[in-house]
Parts: sequence; C-alpha cells; structure tokens
Amino acid sequence: MKFTVLTLFPEITNAYFASSIMAKALEKGIIQYRAVNIRDFALDKHKTCDDAPYGGGPGMLMLAEPLSRALKSIDTAGSSHVICLTPSGRLFTQKRAQELAVMEEIVLICGRYEGIDQRIIDTYVDEELSIGDYVLSSGEAAALAVVDAIYRLVDWVITPESLTEESFSGGLLEYPQYTRPEIFDTMKVPEVLLSGHHENIRCWRQKKRVEKTLAFRPELLERGLREGLFDAETVKLIEKVREDNERDKGD
Ligand code: SAM
Repeated sequence: MKFTVLTLFPEITNAYFASSIMAKALEKGIIQYRAVNIRDFALDKHKTCDDAPYGGGPGMLMLAEPLSRALKSIDTAGSSHVICLTPSGRLFTQKRAQELAVMEEIVLICGRYEGIDQRIIDTYVDEELSIGDYVLSSGEAAALAVVDAIYRLVDWVITPESLTEESFSGGLLEYPQYTRPEIFDTMKVPEVLLSGHHENIRCWRQKKRVEKTLAFRPELLERGLREGLFDAETVKLIEKVREDNERDKGD
C-alpha cells in the first residue's frame, strides 16, 4: 500500500510517517510513502499557490494549476485512488477505511485556506472525504487521520486479534479496559476480570459494549439491528439493556 500526500507543508506529514508503528511498517516495506510539495509546482518567482475566489467572499483558494501539475507529476500506473480532504465531503468511517485498505495506492490532497478550485476535484478526484462535522484549518491533520485508520488495517501492520473487538467492529463500541494496579485511588478492577473465567469475561465485555453503544451512539445499534449485524445473543442483550434502562428511568 502506497500513500502519496500532496501538501503545502510536507514537514507535517513527514513527521507522522517517521514515527512509531508507521515508521516500522515503512521500514519493513509493507507501506510506502511519498510527499509531494505542491509549492514545487508553482512557476512564478513567489511560488504562489493561492488566489481570491471568483464571485467574492472571504479568504483564498488553492490555485488549480500548481495542483494539477503536482498531480500529473505522480507516476501512478493508473491504479491510484485520489482523495480530497474537505469538510464538505462524505463522512469517513471505519467501514470506508476497511474498503480503502485493499487499494494499491491512495493519493491524498490536503487543502488549505478556503479549499481548492472545484475544477481539480472535477478532473482528478475519485472521492471527497470529511473526517467529521467540524472545520479544521488545513487538510494535513485530516489526511493523517485517514491514513492512520487505513494503514493499521493493512495485513502485517498489527496483529489481526487487535482488530476484532475494537470499536465499530461488529457494529459496537469497545468495552472498558483495565490494567495494573488492581486498586487505583480506591477504585477496584471489576471482579469478573480477575476471575480467570473466560466465558464470564466475554459476556461481561459484550454487555459493556452494548451499554456503551446505547449510551453514546444509539444510532449504531439501530443500524446494526436493521442490517442484521448482531448474533442472537447480542440482540437479546440489547433488549435487556434497553429494558433495564427504561426501568431505571421509571424508578
Ligand atoms: N471553506 C471550507 C468549507 O467551508 O467547507 C473549509 C476549508 S478549511 C478552513 C481548509 C482545509 O482544511 C480544507 O480544504 C480541507 O482540506 C481541510 N479540512 C478542514 N476540515 C476538514 C474536515 N472536517 N475533514 C476533512 N478535511 C478538512
């Protein structure tokens, strides 16, 4: 899997690719990375990459020409998927990360200022993605969020077991976790986790997943039920947790 990031500030993305698990994945050759500095493709002596928008309005827009030259400079052999990061894009999800994790090359365009000229999107972009319903000042943090969610799903980056019970897997959020010490500030680790009884631990964790999802992201439970994502045990658990919540409200 290759990530190509088009940015005006490659030092931001370079730092991420040089650290931690990502650096190891690069070293092992599982992941490849290149940054393309859009400013290198501005031809005037000031290396201009932005201008005022037609029709007026605040702020500046990234110019089409340097971006177009930067995109054309990438030798992708036609197998790349070009993503533009923008708050007006489709919401990026774990499901989309899983789909994108099988791509050969992902090209990410990081916006700045008020964004980029629409003609670049119309000509080169396969997908516009937003990482959430808020506006960042630039696309680098958004591109790195997308890269981070995708690359850890690529084979051999992390152990597959780490992915099976985490948030969003199977349509639920993750259960609470504890490590040493057993008692911290008078709070004790839940007894069941110390019991060594694997089945009881599994049931407790599944119940906690349902409780947390119902409390924080009830729409995930609704969608999971609609799409038949849950096994019979989880469906029963959802009904039970809902009933318990209703009863507690009534008390
Ligand atoms: N004028 C744009 C709008 O209202 O939709 C906002 C531009 S924002 C200040 C500058 C850049 O940050 C965008 O071009 C994009 O690359 C990035 N950005 C900001 N918020 C984002 C988000 N939620 N998801 C993805 N990219 C985002």
